[in-house]
Parts: sequence; C-alpha cells; structure tokens
Amino acid sequence: MNVYDSERLQGLLVSAGHKMTAKAEDADIIVLNTCSVRGKAESRALGRLSELQRHKQNNPEVMLVVVGCMAQRMGEDLLKEKPHLDLVLGPDQIFRLPEYLQNHSDSARVAVCASRDGFDRQTIWEHDILPERKTPFTSFVAVSRGCDNFCSYCVVPYVRGPERHRPADQIRREVELLAQTGCRGVTLIGQNVNSYQFGGQDFADLLQMISQQTEIDRIRFMTSHPKDLSDKLIDKMAGLPKVCEHIHLPLQSGSDNVLKKMNRGYTSGDYLRLTDRIKARIPEASITTDIIVGFPTETEEDFEKTLDMVREVEFDSAFMFRYSVREGTKAALLEDDVPEEEKLKRLHVLIDLQKDISLKKNQRLVGKTFEVLVDDRSRRNPGKWKGKTEGNKTVVLEGDDDILGEIVPVTINEADGFTLFGKQREKVCAR
Ligand code: SAH
Ligand code: SF4
Repeated sequence: MNVYDSERLQGLLVSAGHKMTAKAEDADIIVLNTCSVRGKAESRALGRLSELQRHKQNNPEVMLVVVGCMAQRMGEDLLKEKPHLDLVLGPDQIFRLPEYLQNHSDSARVAVCASRDGFDRQTIWEHDILPERKTPFTSFVAVSRGCDNFCSYCVVPYVRGPERHRPADQIRREVELLAQTGCRGVTLIGQNVNSYQFGGQDFADLLQMISQQTEIDRIRFMTSHPKDLSDKLIDKMAGLPKVCEHIHLPLQSGSDNVLKKMNRGYTSGDYLRLTDRIKARIPEASITTDIIVGFPTETEEDFEKTLDMVREVEFDSAFMFRYSVREGTKAALLEDDVPEEEKLKRLHVLIDLQKDISLKKNQRLVGKTFEVLVDDRSRRNPGKWKGKTEGNKTVVLEGDDDILGEIVPVTINEADGFTLFGKQREKVCAR
C-alpha cells in the first residue's frame, strides 16, 4: 500500500508540474514515505531521515517532508526529534502534499488525524491520477484504505484509520486507464479485500466487473483475510480466466491459543478447511502467507503447531516476522515474554522449513509450461528476460527479442527456492 501511495503521490506531483530526480542532492523537495508496522521499519525510516537531513544542512532551501504511517503515529514528536523537518503528513493527508507545497510557509507543520474519527471518508479518492511505476506493465490499484479488524498486534487500524471502500466505478476506471496506457496486470490491494462492499457489490462482484468491463489481461489481489474469504470468491477465481490463481492468505500462527489472543477470528482448523477448499477447486493455486513468531505467551508447543501447519498447507512462499511490540495495540498490554534470541531461533527454523517447501514446490513445476508476463530484463542473467507466472512466481527466461510487456508461454527447465528458469515456447505458426 505504501508503494502504491508513493507511486500515486509521484503521479500527482508530476501532474502539478514538479520533476522527479533520481538523486537526493539534486532535489528541492525530499519526501520520505514511512511504515510503522514493525519497530524495524520505523528505525530504518528514522535512520534514513538522519541521512537526508544533511541535504537540508547543505542547502536550507531544501524542503524535507515525512509522510505515511510513522508520520501519523509520531506526529509532533517527530518534529521534536528531527528539527530539520518542514512537513509531517499522515496517510490521509499524503495526496494534499501539492497544496501544502504551494502554500509553503517557513514554520514546520504537522498534519495528522487526532483520532480514527478524523479520517476522511470521501476526498482521499478524489484524484484521477495514475501511479508512476517502475514497470509500465503492472500496477497496484487500491480498493480500500484503512482497517477495522484490530488484530491485537497490529498498528494499521490506528495509523491508517477506519476501513473505507473505494467506489467500484472509480476502481474500474483506474484499471481501464492503466490498460489503455499499456499496463497488462493489476494487483487490487486493501488490508482486507474480502470485506469490500460498495453499492451492494462485494469483492467477488468487483472482480467479475473488472474482469469483464476492462481490457486488463491479469488481475491479482491482496490481502485476503481468512475469516472473510467466501466460496463465491473462490468460485470467481476458478471461473474468471483473467483472475490469477494466486491467493495471499496470512495465517499468522498455527496455534489456536495464539490466534485467539491475536484476535484473528479463525482457528487452525478453519484455516485448513479453507485451504482444502481452495486446493479442491483450483488445484494449481499458489497459496502464500504471512507468519509471526514469538507473539506474547507463544510456547515451544504453539510454535510447533505453526510448523505443522506450514508442512500441512505447503505454502508456495511466506513472509515471516518476529513479533514487534507496537505501542497502543492490545497486545502491547501483554508481556513481551518470548526472549529476542528465542524469537530469532524460531524465525530461522521457520524460514529453513519454508525454504525447503518452496524449493520442493518449485521443482514440481519443472517440465510444465506457464504463461509469463515479461516485465523486464533479468539483471543477474544478461541476455535473459524476467517475468511472473499467474501464481506470482518469478521466472528468468530465454526468449525472443521483442517480448517485453508480452504474456508468453514458457517451459520451465530448472528451479530453485525463489526462481523458476525456462525457455519461451516456440510460437506455433498458423498455416
Ligand atoms: N492486512 C494484512 C497485512 C498487514 S501488515 C493482513 O491482515 O494480513 C503485514 C504483515 O505484517 C501482517 O500480516 C503480519 O504478519 C505482520 N505484522 C503486523 N504487525 C506486526 C507486529 N506487530 N509484529 C510483527 N509482525 C507484524
Ligand atoms: Fe493489521 Fe489485522 Fe488489519 Fe491486517 S487485518 S491490517 S493484520 S489489523
């Protein structure tokens, strides 16, 4: 979501007459978009900010702006800690940056919402601006902002505000505009896309509409919360050819005790039944996940249950994290009682297990042929292309010279835990 916000902000600034520069030393305005989801993300942002301050010291005319979740969470404190800052904007004010730049004053300013009630319900969607992307062939498109789920460990509902759904027609229009400008695939994003509702349409209806009423070739979506994933959505994934056979379904933990304390709203049994239904309906589906280790009170036995689930489901890949205390959340009231070194040990055990599974699953794909959306040259493999399968696997391939931005059939001849390697299939010439 932060990548999308940054890209959209870039689009907005360019349309307001600003020019992007690749080097901070050439910039008059430096904007840092920040994340708060784990302590590490914030300390990295603060480190980067200290680095960027030197540009301001060298040239006092430079404007230093911090936007996003850390801006929202720290507000005034950020100005106290970093006196060189000119402007601090929470996630709801990001797209107002051009206005703030126009009305620039010398005094430093903070614009964040004081509480969840202060978040804007309408204007955040106003701008009909396309994100400025690294590759023109794929794009994120937001379907909602904020979150109402309050998983006990998570800061998102506080910093990104309440869940607000974007009008379906605006989403369709953005996807259509992207398709008209050469984009081949979109990823519809929201903290929980499965709870999308607008004018009587749910997320499955939205997928169908985007699929049938736009020229886009591929549609992916994330994140799906397991408690809200309906059979109707699984059916649409199976039945709509443009919708990728990939689902990102964060498990978080395999222990029912921990899941309950996390306020996730499902048990490990519910999760398994769900993934069984997905596998039965879409045998080729790629299932990916997020997992947290070392949540307060997590015992060795709880952790073993997470490992059991990972073995049972056989995820294609996973994002794995050490629990990080986030001030203001419910879980922050619990004692952070799993020692850091134990968290790290569990994380490594989990990563090693997942690596083996990813490798095994990827190797099963050797000999098969997939449609690959070619989005760039491979940097590590000169002369080769790179792209993605529907299942979101990265493929490095040998192919014709003119396939950038094309969707081509590729036969896989080798695989490691992260990448598939293959060759473009000969084009069959019609007689
Ligand atoms: N809305 C998405 C994910 C949002 S944050 C969802 O519900 O799945 C992305 C991931 O960060 C989460 O899935 C979770 O695994 C991780 N995460 C969130 N808060 C965390 C915390 N306090 N410590 C460690 N990991 C966390
Ligand atoms: Fe955080 Fe849970 Fe909302 Fe995801 S669903 S953003 S983990 S509160």
